[in-house]
Amino acid sequence: MRCHAKSKRSGEQCKSWAVKGKKVCRMHGAFAGIKTRAGRERQVKAVTKHGLYAKQAIEERREARQMVNGAIEVLTQTLQKDMS
Ligand SMILES: [Zn+2]
Repeated sequence: MRCHAKSKRSGEQCKSWAVKGKKVCRMHGAFAGIKTRAGRERQVKAVTKHGLYAKQAIEERREARQMVNGAIEVLTQTLQKDMS
């Protein structure tokens, strides 16, 4: 079933497919945000997953930087010893 909405300007009917069980497409009001508890939980889970990944990635980069800095320090000290 096609969306029942009609354009105010052109008077043409919306060509999008309507959401199942509704008369309009997502653009014309069928999607009214997350209503169900399961839907909300699903969204939170998705967002949290991303957040955790970002946090982990930052942590990994921080550790890598520390390792590099530590290696540079050791190298510098070694070179200084060789020079003297
Ligand atoms: Zn529509």
